[in-house]
Amino acid sequence: MMDLSGQHILVIGLGKTGTATARFLSRQGAIVMVTDEKAPDQLKGTLDQMQQEGVNFRFRPFAPDILSDVDMVVPSPGVAPSNRMLTEAMHRNKPVLSELELACRFLKPPMIAITGTNGKTTTTTLIGEILATSGKSVFVGGNIGTPLIGYVDGPQRDDYVVVEVSSFQLQWTCDFRPDVAILLNITCDHVDYHGTFADYRRAKERIFKNQTGQDLAVLNADEEYTEVLSQGLAAKIACFSSSRRLSRGIFLDGAQIVYRSPAGETEMYPLDMVKIPGAHNIENVMAAVLAARWAGCRRETIIQAVGDFRGIVHRIEYAGEKGGVAFYDDSKATNVGAVLRALETFSRPVVLLMGGRDKEGDFEVLSAMIEKRVKTLILFGEAKERIKALLGGVVKTKQAATLREAMPLAWCSAVAGDVVLLAPGCASFDEFKDYKERGDIFKKWVGSLS
Ligand code: ADP
Repeated sequence: MMDLSGQHILVIGLGKTGTATARFLSRQGAIVMVTDEKAPDQLKGTLDQMQQEGVNFRFRPFAPDILSDVDMVVPSPGVAPSNRMLTEAMHRNKPVLSELELACRFLKPPMIAITGTNGKTTTTTLIGEILATSGKSVFVGGNIGTPLIGYVDGPQRDDYVVVEVSSFQLQWTCDFRPDVAILLNITCDHVDYHGTFADYRRAKERIFKNQTGQDLAVLNADEEYTEVLSQGLAAKIACFSSSRRLSRGIFLDGAQIVYRSPAGETEMYPLDMVKIPGAHNIENVMAAVLAARWAGCRRETIIQAVGDFRGIVHRIEYAGEKGGVAFYDDSKATNVGAVLRALETFSRPVVLLMGGRDKEGDFEVLSAMIEKRVKTLILFGEAKERIKALLGGVVKTKQAATLREAMPLAWCSAVAGDVVLLAPGCASFDEFKDYKERGDIFKKWVGSLS
């Protein structure tokens, strides 16, 4: 544990994580400063609340010179590495620690951490459910729900902690060491934030950096980088695969999921226990089973918990039916990898709603799958022209300024037997507050049709 008392610590960004960090630091006796790109009057609600809670802090204007009397900097997960405060902090050799890094130095229960481009929330939630069904007390949080720093501020009485971690958070870790670290997959995303794909990948791989032979690394055997990556890891390795049999680990074999323990014992799980759609969710389930077996959960309980798990809203969520057309909300598909997996899920012709704010996604990757599955592509939002240029030649394409205007076009393009899928492959911020609002508007519209 670190002694933070009397340390001058600057928290950059006053979102949910930033405020939880300030609260924690103040309780640890640090001299807390907070800053944000927003002006104090825009943050009034947040600042007032922190004051009411007795957090001892000082708001400083967002300017590099405030760094001179700072011992350490804690950026919020949303702060990009290119942020001028951060680059200046590095330039001045100030230690930069993420909230995750800080939290793990105070964390007591064993930790299962999940990262990857897609599937983090689904897998994290499912592991939490399996552990809870097995009678273990568990905290589930991190990048979803309560930040880990909020948890270490409390009594920490759980048997396990399951945390979703993003590449943004991993970027600033140094001693972070999960007992189980899961890397689900890496596809192109957030290049706008990390700079290059290689930087993004390096950030994700940091999840394994401090693991030792006592820890477990869970890897996707079907990913190209896995072989090289696993050679450099100190942890024990358990892989999952949906395409081939493995001598150890877990894999899909016809209608069975087969688990082979480190001791070489075999355990079968029926594939039909998985109620959430798509091959990608089988991968998420397999990763979750590896973590659950590590934690000592029993096969029967795992089967029960997986069978009870109905997925999470806005992830290929069934939204209703009208005139033989089924509607699905996959608003959380904010990158090309997720769109690809969503399309794989359907055997019926798809009318695909795609667009929003462009994250420099490599849309051309979708070309073959769109040709195979999509009958009409409906584009909307800021990204529509670029997507049209890359994919417009592949399939019949229509355009609308916004999603709200695109939805009726989708309905007109569909006939009985089709699927209308919202899988935007882009961020939502050009039209909505977030992906949740986008999905809710879509579902409301579907509801109004029937
Ligand atoms: P994350 O927390 O990593 O964003 P979610 O579980 O919220 O992951 O899912 C985000 C999107 O990715 C959804 O569109 C979902 O259908 C899709 N998805 C879920 N699991 C996977 C996976 N293993 N591979 C690819 N896409 C996935």
